[in-house]
Amino acid sequence: KDLLALVLRETLLTSSQQELSGLRTTERNPERISIVHGDIAVLNDSLKNADPCTAKGCKWPKSGKYVYVPYIISSAYSQEQRNIILGGMESFHLSTCIRFVPWNSDDCSYIYFESKDGCWSFVGRQDNGQYLSLQKNGCLYHGTVQHEILHALGFHHEQCRSDRDKYVCINKKNIEPGQFARNFKKEQTNNLGTPYDFYSIMHYGKYDFSINGQPTIFARADPYFDWGHAKHMSSNDINRINKLYECCK
Ligand SMILES: [Zn+2]
Repeated sequence: KDLLALVLRETLLTSSQQELSGLRTTERNPERISIVHGDIAVLNDSLKNADPCTAKGCKWPKSGKYVYVPYIISSAYSQEQRNIILGGMESFHLSTCIRFVPWNSDDCSYIYFESKDGCWSFVGRQDNGQYLSLQKNGCLYHGTVQHEILHALGFHHEQCRSDRDKYVCINKKNIEPGQFARNFKKEQTNNLGTPYDFYSIMHYGKYDFSINGQPTIFARADPYFDWGHAKHMSSNDINRINKLYECCK
C-alpha cells in the first residue's frame, strides 16, 4: 500500500546472503547474521544488545568538520538506480556533516550498497565493512535509501524508542503472528533530546505487519491520526544526525 510497508517487510536471510562470507571477516559465517525489526541486520551474538550508538562505538569517526563514510555501490545497479542511491547520499551532504566518499583501500569500514534480498542495514558502523541491501525491485526510492542509511549511521526505528509508550500503543492482536511481533520491541535508545516524531522516515506505518487490516500502532493522543507516508527525512531526523555527530561543533 505504501513505500514504507514494502521497505519494512520482514526479510529473512537466504542463501543469497551467504555471499557475505567472501567479503568480511566478521561475517564469514552467515548463520551468525539475523534480520530483526523488519530490516535491521545483526550478528547473532549481539542480538540482545542494541545499545545507543554512542555507547557501542559504532559511530562513524569525525575528521575535522566532517564525518567521512566510505561507500561502494555494486556494479549490479543500472546508472539510473545508482543515481537514486547517490541522490540519497547527497541529501545528507546538504543538511548534515556526513560526507559519503568513494571507498579506497585504506578504509576498513565502509558501506557496500548491494541488491540483496529486501531492504536492510546494520545499525551503526561495523568493523571491516558492512552490506546495506537495496533490492533492485522494491527498495530504490529516495526515502528508502535515506531510511537504510540512517540505520547505518546508528539510528533505530522511531516506534522502538525507549519512550515510545508515552506516544504510541502497540496493538499486538493485529500483528501478524510469528516473528513479526519482535519488530515492535522497544529498544534502549539515545533520543538526543529530540521529540517523538510520527513524520520520521524511521517510523513504521500505522498498519505495517497487520494481519487483519486493522492498525498495529495507535497514536495515544488521537487514535484516528494516520501517518507513515513520509517520503524523505523529517527535520527531526536531520536534527538527530547533527546532534549525534556534533555537526555544529
Ligand atoms: Zn528500518
